[in-house]
Amino acid sequence: MATVRALLDVGIARLRESGSETARLDAELLLAHALDTDRTAILAHTDAPVGDGAAARFQASLDRRAAGEPVAYIRGIKEFHGLAFGIDPRALIPRPETERLVELAELEIVRWLLGAPRPAGSPPVRVIDVGVGSGAVAVTLAVLLRRRGMLDEVTLAATDLSEDALQLARENAVAHAVGDRIAFSTADLLPGSETTRWDVVAANLPYVRSGAMPTLPVATSYEPATALDGGPDGLTVIGRLLDQLPDALAPHGVALLEIGGDQEAALRALVIERLPGWSCEVERDLGGLPRVAILRRDETDAASPAA
Ligand code: GLN
Repeated sequence: MATVRALLDVGIARLRESGSETARLDAELLLAHALDTDRTAILAHTDAPVGDGAAARFQASLDRRAAGEPVAYIRGIKEFHGLAFGIDPRALIPRPETERLVELAELEIVRWLLGAPRPAGSPPVRVIDVGVGSGAVAVTLAVLLRRRGMLDEVTLAATDLSEDALQLARENAVAHAVGDRIAFSTADLLPGSETTRWDVVAANLPYVRSGAMPTLPVATSYEPATALDGGPDGLTVIGRLLDQLPDALAPHGVALLEIGGDQEAALRALVIERLPGWSCEVERDLGGLPRVAILRRDETDAASPAA
């Protein structure tokens, strides 16, 4: 019987040859998946024998990965902000840089709840994740707010144009015990007929330039193109959301939008054009790239009631 180490060596060589830049990590994750265990367990037992069934499952996974399929779709799982999400081609695989969007949205909500004294009976903070995809943003926010004991003070909604994605997001919400805490609905960006004005809008919308789609890594071609393709300049969908914000955002509301690392200037220009007078800060991700735009109405505009 082959050992863990021998199978890993074969797998790493195979994936390197196929062009994977993360061959070792991929092989470890796929072998752990075949053995129905986690990566640390196999790294701690490299001399352990592997049964024929698991070895065959590992080979089949290697075939799929060598053909370009992302590891997350083969495993059916992806870690995001320390939580495991069920993942399949119904939605985009959550990216680590999107954790920044979640952290900043959490910070806004916490500030909102702690910032001013809230008399009993204050309305909940209304939060919406636009383009929910797998649910990574909305579900993680719900879990983080529950840990802080703040979930009851928030209402969470989430939309997507894709019924498939919404279904996956619902499954992930149920898996993390927040299925009854997020109102999911089908919508093209913000729900149109609603009278609700949102306090916090968070969105990781498609922002890849159409022309750049063919240059993305091959693994990306397994993901839904509608979750990535942001039109000719990459900002078409985000631009449509900006147009919805004046009516949909509460006076002191804030919108947090994930953007591409090279889109800060273009996004700022778009905000000046579509939302004159609004403020726009851009936060960076761990790689130092501009990643989350934070938009607010002009303070004076929002703060003072008409005289
Ligand atoms: N960061 C993603 C990528 O480069 C794009 C995600 C998005 O369009 N929202 O693959």
